[in-house]
Amino acid sequence: MSRVYNFSAGPAVLPEEVLREAADEMLDYRGTGMSVMEMSHRSKAYETIIKEAEADLRELMNIPDNYKVLFLQGGASQQFAMIPMNLMKNKVADYIVTGQWAKKAYQEACIYGKANKIASSEDKTFSYIPDCSDLPVSEDADYVYICENNTIYGTKYKTLPNTKGKPLVSDVSSCFLSEPVDVTKYGVIYGGVQKNIGPAGVVIVIIREDLITEDVLPGTPTMLKYKIHADNDSLYNTPPAYGIYICGKVFKWIKAKGGLAAMKEYNEKKAKILYDYLDESRMFKGTVRKEDRSLMNVPFVTGDEELDAKFVKEATAAGFVNLKGHRTVGGMRASIYNAMPIEGVEKLVEFMKEFEKQNTK
Ligand SMILES: *Cc1c(COP(=O)(O)O)cnc(C)c1O
Repeated sequence: MSRVYNFSAGPAVLPEEVLREAADEMLDYRGTGMSVMEMSHRSKAYETIIKEAEADLRELMNIPDNYKVLFLQGGASQQFAMIPMNLMKNKVADYIVTGQWAKKAYQEACIYGKANKIASSEDKTFSYIPDCSDLPVSEDADYVYICENNTIYGTKYKTLPNTKGKPLVSDVSSCFLSEPVDVTKYGVIYGGVQKNIGPAGVVIVIIREDLITEDVLPGTPTMLKYKIHADNDSLYNTPPAYGIYICGKVFKWIKAKGGLAAMKEYNEKKAKILYDYLDESRMFKGTVRKEDRSLMNVPFVTGDEELDAKFVKEATAAGFVNLKGHRTVGGMRASIYNAMPIEGVEKLVEFMKEFEKQNTK
């Protein structure tokens, strides 16, 4: 068996310890004689799994009691519709568009009400985060929406927008649990788990209780109502049970590593190795405004498409995989989530240095 360094943006690298533990428990989960995949979601064993997962997440993120934690399906994209359907009481919401995912969420919200694009960084291929200290937030906006870490473009909000009292809704898919957060600053925090936490399909929604009401847009399907899932502790129907079990293991892994403060320290150390090299290299360049750089997704280019392709090909052969950039940015992107070991980044940079030397006349 040989594992590669997987720099995929998602689904992405998971902690090896977690995968091993899951493998050990595959045929017989702790004396139950069955896999978690084969288990009733109403069984005692599963009840413990989902309860512990929630408790561990609450502890890690210091989630106050007036927030619900929901484990749902449909990925992050399902939330693009679920958010307006549940929260647009006045049928008005403000969106800050900093990348493809925010744009998709904005376009989806336009189906349900008046979605206003109050800021955007599309003018410069989403390579920065706009100044959000004094935006024209709509008087009657039900919420202000952001994508906090832009997976494709590699930008991250370092300061949250001034929402002028409106609830902030944030897609944190690609920065979930990468650093401490103050949950009280948000109305809703949500993310698909396949970037930093677990297997695709699960989406975690952390939502302030007063935002969960019966008063949703007419025609909202039962399965898309936050209230039904909140009232049933995420067990209204069969949840993505195995995925939640893996998420729970990752929460425990993060706790054992020292929690979110320790994650942040580790992630900063990792990202610095790569960014420092990008800043000194004469071949590779980062594509993002420095102040807005993400700790999780690092896009870079050589400025020469053929050289980019050569690099990706040789890197893959050397065991550094999924480095090809998104088609809208080109070049390369290294996603260096929580589970990417620091050695992976160190070795990638060594490889890049050698490539630069070999390919410079
Ligand atoms: C990947 C991603 C999504 C989409 O997630 P799905 O689970 O595929 O729907 C949405 N937002 C962000 C920020 C992402 O990185």
